Amino acid sequence: MYLNEKVLQSEDWPGLVDTHCHLDLEPLCLDLPSILSAADLCGVTRFVVPGVHPDGWERIARIAREHESVFPAFGIHPMHADVAVESNLSRLAALSATGVAIGEIGLDPSYAVPMECQERAFREQLRLAVTLGLPVLVHCRRAFQRTLHILQQEGAYRVGGIMHAFSGSLEMARQFLQLGFVISISGILTRNNSVHLPKVVRELQLEDLVLETDAPDLTPQRYKGLPNQPAYIVETLRAVAEIKGVDPSTVARCSKTVSLKVLDRLQMS
Ligand SMILES: [Zn+2]
Repeated sequence: MYLNEKVLQSEDWPGLVDTHCHLDLEPLCLDLPSILSAADLCGVTRFVVPGVHPDGWERIARIAREHESVFPAFGIHPMHADVAVESNLSRLAALSATGVAIGEIGLDPSYAVPMECQERAFREQLRLAVTLGLPVLVHCRRAFQRTLHILQQEGAYRVGGIMHAFSGSLEMARQFLQLGFVISISGILTRNNSVHLPKVVRELQLEDLVLETDAPDLTPQRYKGLPNQPAYIVETLRAVAEIKGVDPSTVARCSKTVSLKVLDRLQMS
């Protein structure tokens, strides 16, 4: 256990949502009960676990069946967009009956998978999301204009979703908001080399933001060197509160409300 303090004890502490954490991956999956109870001590009561590859979907579904605070999403990550997406779409549709979103999907030129291939997978899954009426969890790095364009073309405003671990500019953030998306703030905000994020958080409204860890990646500065885990979301929460000049419980309350609004199936528990 890395963190067992009760970090915030406000009476109206509402229960946080980690809108993006890979609890199915090592090392988190190796000791899930203690990871979940550490998070619980920090007030995190809902966890969204996105899929990245068809081979991992069943495992995520099982974790969600075993833990009522865990909510699955299914999708093919851009780094795996060279799998046969079309032949997995019907299974994706079937599994998504229990999913809170389709994801994570998107574009990322830092991976070896050709961009045409990434775009095709992104569009196929977006179409499915729109057909099913499910929001999407979007992974996007260094391809913001193109991602925005595809979201517009595919009518993603009808379902909305979350721009996960957002790292783009304020101007880009505003364009995604206009399309009905919200911006997810990760532990990148706490890092000394965070470029755009402090400005994004300062200028946007709390109603535009949700929180995530992307555990086991994107560890906040304070725990640098350790694998990230949902309990550490409090670091990001505090950083947001400090930038906005509000109480952490205000950020917690607002991000919970926004998370449940965007991912409305989270309310079914
Ligand atoms: Zn992720």
